[in-house]
Amino acid sequence: MSLLQGRTAIITGAAQGIGLSIAEAFTAAGANVVIADIDGARADTAATHLKGTGAGDSAGAACDVSSADDMNALVELAVSRFGGLDVFVNNAGITRDATMRKMSEEMFDQVISVHLRGAWLGTRAAANVMREQPGGGSIVNISSISGKVGLAGQTNYSAAKAGIVGLTKAAAKEVGFANVRVNAIQPGLIRTAMTEALPNDIYESRVKDIPLGRAGEPSEIAQVALFLASDMSSYMTGAVLEVTGGRHT
Ligand code: NAP
Repeated sequence: MSLLQGRTAIITGAAQGIGLSIAEAFTAAGANVVIADIDGARADTAATHLKGTGAGDSAGAACDVSSADDMNALVELAVSRFGGLDVFVNNAGITRDATMRKMSEEMFDQVISVHLRGAWLGTRAAANVMREQPGGGSIVNISSISGKVGLAGQTNYSAAKAGIVGLTKAAAKEVGFANVRVNAIQPGLIRTAMTEALPNDIYESRVKDIPLGRAGEPSEIAQVALFLASDMSSYMTGAVLEVTGGRHT
């Protein structure tokens, strides 16, 4: 299925985990993909690995999403290398979990900076290109169920992920006139390095809250990202899709 044939996509934080899985799904669907990550060498390695596996081309790029200069350079790279920008996925993320009593201001600021400022910078830079091209584009923001329900020990992360929902809805209203669509995904517990870092008892207690009885796989988020990136969702903007195996707590 060539849902993204000939289109160009950028995915941030894509050297591993959910971002890499989205990159794999997009290249398989025909897109040319820029894999951006704070670690440029790992982004290059991932892009090299992807070449030849899918129908689309791939390139790696170093980008700290909290830097406006890095973000603007990233978008310029995609446009100069592949001739446009049709899809942008704000996926990069970190966790700095602690109760409020133990969380430092630095831990709060780091998480807000990468997730919320990063997603805002990415949405702005991508929309600036997409609104000027025929056909517009699709921006997909990776929020989290933590931003809807709130999780103890994640006041920084829950706040940032809830902020991404507001950003998504406001941006959708600003750029819809140019057929630039902005949507968000709220994953639940997905098996990646981020969740493997959780203490075992916390991981197991979260699995108990999942009606489908298991953590999700990165590919199960990638399929939803592909839907939002493609024309399959052409009449959707400002929407937030929960992909949680039914978990609501
Ligand atoms: P991951 O495996 O840790 O991958 C995140 C990637 O982002 C890593 O390569 C990381 O690099 C990179 N990164 C960190 N800071 C960055 C920055 N400033 N600029 C660019 N790249 C940066 O995490 P994941 O589980 O795939 O998560 C991907 C997204 O899904 C995140 O937004 C996360 O919050 C969200 N999410 C995940 C889950 C889950 O259960 N896994 C659930 C809900 C939402 P380093 O490894 O060097 O830090």
